[in-house]
Amino acid sequence: MRNILILGGTTEASALARLLAERGERATLSYAGRVDSPRPQPVPVRVGGFGGAVGLADYLRAQGVTHLVDATHPFAATMSANAATAARMACIAHVALTRPAWSATTGDRWTHVPDLAAALAALDGPARRIMLALGRMHADAFAARPRHFFLLRFIDPPATPPPLINYHLVIDRGPFDMASEMRLMQAHGIDLVLCKNAGGTGAQAKLLAARNLGLPVLMIDRPALPDRLELHAPRAVLHWIDHSADRGV
Ligand code: NAP
Repeated sequence: MRNILILGGTTEASALARLLAERGERATLSYAGRVDSPRPQPVPVRVGGFGGAVGLADYLRAQGVTHLVDATHPFAATMSANAATAARMACIAHVALTRPAWSATTGDRWTHVPDLAAALAALDGPARRIMLALGRMHADAFAARPRHFFLLRFIDPPATPPPLINYHLVIDRGPFDMASEMRLMQAHGIDLVLCKNAGGTGAQAKLLAARNLGLPVLMIDRPALPDRLELHAPRAVLHWIDHSADRGV
């Protein structure tokens, strides 16, 4: 029987898990464990790292996994590289379920930076009121830019307050729409939105809001990801599973 491992942490991973459960497929969803209260899932869930590419390859062999679906966030570059290597080592079929990147259109005022360090360097100027839409993982780094105000939004309340001097923290997991994002930005006098090019529709509302308000966006571009087959819809992954051999694809 086919045995599918989904590397998750995204809404696309959860959507695929639902489709696989509806079809009665054997599937497991893997989380890194960054979120305290992940949504309940219709397939078994495992949590925590595998121990690098070698650890993942061992896991794939031990569990008899036949298909590996990397549905991690586009900025989870280490996990994606490990997935590609481990699938090769274990000789199993491997695909990425990804969101196409966003691209700027008329009315957008985006400045691109390649990574977090470059985003920090770009904030070396006068005081701004910044919507820091990076989740909780990277908020601490902005303690190095104490003159700015930061609007933060986390999924879970943090165990300890972020080490920022001037900030407001919203706890909310969305989904968000353009109107509510505009209200939030206006309520906090935001004059810059800082985010990653995550892609997809779920997180796009803040960009539509920034465009409507004429606000500049500092956009962290995607990291380099391994060469692999990429699909953009959970149903396309079902089709791939149906049409790929169980091993050696
Ligand atoms: P990362 O830097 O690529 O991964 C770091 C390590 O975390 C990996 O080497 C792996 O540990 C473990 N890991 C990552 N994803 C895993 C998964 N799905 N199952 C089991 N172990 C996993 O990733 P990250 O940027 O820290 O992101 C961690 C998780 O959060 C990912 O699952 C991603 O989908 C989700 N996420 C990330 C972002 C973001 O902006 N980066 C945003 C939303 C959601 P081992 O080497 O020990 O196996």
